[in-house]
Amino acid sequence: MLRVAVVGSGPSGCYTAQTLVQQDPDVLVDVLDRLPCPFGLVRYGVAPDHEKIKSLQGNLRTVLEHDRVRFLGGVRVGGPGGLPVERLRELYHAVVYCVGASTDRHLGIPGENLPGSWSATEFVSWYSAHPDSVAEAFVREVRSAVVIGVGNVAVDVTRMLARGAAELSPTDMPQDALSTLAASRVTEVSMVGRRGPSQARFTTKELRELGGLPDTEVAVDPAELALDPAYADPSGLPAPQRRNVEALRGWADGPPGAAARRIRLRFFLRPVELLADGGRVGAVRFERTVPDGHGGVTGTGRFEDVEAQLVLRSVGYRGVPLEGLPFDAESGTVPNAYGRVARGCFVPPGEYVAGWIKRGPTGVIGTNRPCAKETVTHLLEDAPTLVRKDVPPDPVAALRAEGIVPVEWRGWQAIERAEAELGARLGRSVVKLADWDSLLTAARTAVS
Ligand code: NAP
Repeated sequence: MLRVAVVGSGPSGCYTAQTLVQQDPDVLVDVLDRLPCPFGLVRYGVAPDHEKIKSLQGNLRTVLEHDRVRFLGGVRVGGPGGLPVERLRELYHAVVYCVGASTDRHLGIPGENLPGSWSATEFVSWYSAHPDSVAEAFVREVRSAVVIGVGNVAVDVTRMLARGAAELSPTDMPQDALSTLAASRVTEVSMVGRRGPSQARFTTKELRELGGLPDTEVAVDPAELALDPAYADPSGLPAPQRRNVEALRGWADGPPGAAARRIRLRFFLRPVELLADGGRVGAVRFERTVPDGHGGVTGTGRFEDVEAQLVLRSVGYRGVPLEGLPFDAESGTVPNAYGRVARGCFVPPGEYVAGWIKRGPTGVIGTNRPCAKETVTHLLEDAPTLVRKDVPPDPVAALRAEGIVPVEWRGWQAIERAEAELGARLGRSVVKLADWDSLLTAARTAVS
């Protein structure tokens, strides 16, 4: 049997495990995760009100319940106190790193670290109950918020800022975050792109959803859209961009309404500084830009301040280096040849990558399927050279001997039961446990 470790139990890790067991009847897969809970960004990144995408957890669950796949949660690979990459290689014939892109990018402008300025990732982690998230009442005393960036994460956080208690309480979001968002007094959210509407990264389905939020209107300035040369005649644009421009045009033509909340979609504004007011952020200063004719923009020297007591920068994720693995700091990925980890000019068999750490933080969840397939194809091509006799018969016993006690599948099922019980006590459906202690205490009930 070929023993493979997959590091990371998000979509790319699960699709890798699935493809391995589907394509080779002689492979055993352990899916390791530093968290006691599986599913990565499907659990901790997909917005709680996106039930349909969240339901993908059902598919990923089937993978982790396969009789040749094991989930080993609570096992940190690399870093202080973690299992060194070199040791992991000794325990398995092959290792596939599916660790994603776990940090956020920075703007590098003055005022970025003022109180009230956060990355979208920090806000998402908070309402998704990530056990490492900061305890912060993001929206307290906030009237206006600015979201910097026009990708799908920006749309998610903008929508979550505009949602009310009635829409949030059926979700599995933690009780603290629900109470805080339910008491929110945010009436205006500006989502701001540095380039034009035809270059925005959001997808039309996600964009249109903003128009369907209760008691919320979407405002777009037609003069701002018209700065984009493609706005007057979008017929030459690729279909996704054309549909975005058409959706924006619909809002630009609409009369102003009287809704309680307003989402302003702004374009051609480049953030240059976060301005303080009473020791925390009070506004974002933007420079007006114009198209440079090559898909980019140039500054005009004209500035506009947009009031905000909360600023979320949503300018993309970034991979982090894992000690013992090569890393390309420019792209934030592990250098690889179609999934095989490349160490300089050498591509020694046995180490692989899939998902965002392989190709960068792009694409939707389904993009990880072909990505995982490509990696697995190469791993299985290498299989004859990978089988070694010195691999222990059961890596879990070796881990335990080293003081690492994984949260196995029944531990995760105990967490699920505890979340259902918490939901029942609160008169809601499932409610996520939001801290390490509660998660590990729940997991331990599986063995006692
Ligand atoms: P993204 O799609 O790469 O968007 C990043 C945004 O930040 C872009 O608008 C970019 O503008 C802007 N930006 C970057 N640097 C900037 C700077 N210095 N100043 C101002 N703006 C800056 O990233 P994302 O939104 O984090 O999404 C990551 C991936 O997850 C995407 O593939 C996305 O589709 C996916 N996702 C999907 C869903 C869904 O399907 N519902 C939900 C969430 C995320 P430029 O274009 O000008 O660089």
